[in-house]
Amino acid sequence: MGATRPGRRRRAADARDRQGRPAPAEGARVKVWSIPMRTRFRGIDVREGVLLAGPGGWGEWSPFLEYDAREVEPWLRCAEEAAAGDWPDPVREWVPVNVTVPAVGAERAHEIVTRGGCRTAKVKVAERGQTLGDDLARVEAVRDALGPDGPVRVDANGGWEVDEAVGAIRSLERSAGGLEYVEQPCATVEELAAVRRAVDVPIAADESIRRAADPYRVRDLEAADVAVLKVQPLGGVRACLRIAEDIGLPVVVSSALETSVGIAAGLALAAALPELPHACGLATVQLLADDVVTEPLLPVDGALPAVVPTVDPAALSRLAADPARVAHWEARIAEVRALREDQA
Ligand SMILES: [Mg+2]
Repeated sequence: MGATRPGRRRRAADARDRQGRPAPAEGARVKVWSIPMRTRFRGIDVREGVLLAGPGGWGEWSPFLEYDAREVEPWLRCAEEAAAGDWPDPVREWVPVNVTVPAVGAERAHEIVTRGGCRTAKVKVAERGQTLGDDLARVEAVRDALGPDGPVRVDANGGWEVDEAVGAIRSLERSAGGLEYVEQPCATVEELAAVRRAVDVPIAADESIRRAADPYRVRDLEAADVAVLKVQPLGGVRACLRIAEDIGLPVVVSSALETSVGIAAGLALAAALPELPHACGLATVQLLADDVVTEPLLPVDGALPAVVPTVDPAALSRLAADPARVAHWEARIAEVRALREDQA
């Protein structure tokens, strides 16, 4: 059975009942998976995580390995919300998405955009060990592949100092023939605000929202024009909807390199937002060499359907992590739950 049709999605719990899907068996409630990346991205070659089963279906918990228990607690809330089937009703069936271009060479960047099937491209820049020249060549290739009209956005992951950012953004804007926005040019909210005052290109905040003690400082310091929201780090779909409302900025929903199960949570947010003026960064399952569902969430004409994909038991066996990694993830869940008890 494939994905639920757009527009017919209900709360996952209802959908399960209607379709007569059996509740996951006891003992199958946590599945640890390990999937190689097609291209090294964000310094990682293998993506690992957990699928949690609940009365509403599956939720994904896949925090990055270097994050501590405190930081990954909201990620677990997101998985639990999905497993409970507790998502808001969608207001749209399809979500426009960008193709993501890692910090690869120009030729490879061109190929990724050509194959990506999206009208908007997001290009990683300011990668450690590379030069501005590498970035300029990459965005030029992306523009060439996209044609004159498609929006190009860049993401520096906080890699520049303020002056460096101002210079780089001006050069990149010329090479790209215009930029839709620059995501997280510098590390701090104060620096984002300084860059925003110095350049005409809109600024998007990502790490300054999802890794900050106070996500609203971005709003209070007028540090960004766009808020990038990721459902796992921010505690789930409903938590992100509240942030979107309170932050008062246009939202771009992006992934944390999830499998299609995790991407579906991002799509549930994007589908529920009252306004969605920009393409979302949710077309990232292509960055993984495999997936845990029967029909991976790949873009069709530059959009993804807001559906709940069907988990494939064969894929779960194929991608099952080795026992040492299973033990690692079980210990990590136990750590988060112990932290919650301490705080309760
Ligand atoms: Mg980012």
